[in-house]
Amino acid sequence: MSQQSSPCVPGLFTEEGGARVLGNRCVTCNTPYFPKASACHNPRCTESKMEDAAFGGKGVIWSYSVADFPPPPPHKFDKPFKPYVIGVIDMENGLRIVGQLVDPLEKVQVGAKVELVIAPVYHEDDKAYTSWKFKLV
Ligand SMILES: [Zn+2]
Repeated sequence: MSQQSSPCVPGLFTEEGGARVLGNRCVTCNTPYFPKASACHNPRCTESKMEDAAFGGKGVIWSYSVADFPPPPPHKFDKPFKPYVIGVIDMENGLRIVGQLVDPLEKVQVGAKVELVIAPVYHEDDKAYTSWKFKLV
């Protein structure tokens, strides 16, 4: 059984070539950005030269919090609501990204290794609406 899926917000991530978020990188100093930055913010950078880049792969949980209440409208969620973990992830590619974890709270701890995945946030009309998330590895 394959279910149709569609991004919650288009243009922020891809599954082609593996799960990756769409950001950019400064060619001069190699600083990665997600979401995209219009200019490099590195104070030591000599020349801001931005180039589109996709970021995926592994990282570690720097910190996390538990959302134990449903998100306010217009955000949607599968009912009944289940508390979920929001992590701040230090990626091997240099990014620090916020994202939901697909794993249950009992398994999550600071310092645990995770990888970026694309997973459903909610379902509607037999369709899964997806976003980037993180999964323990
Ligand atoms: Zn730079």
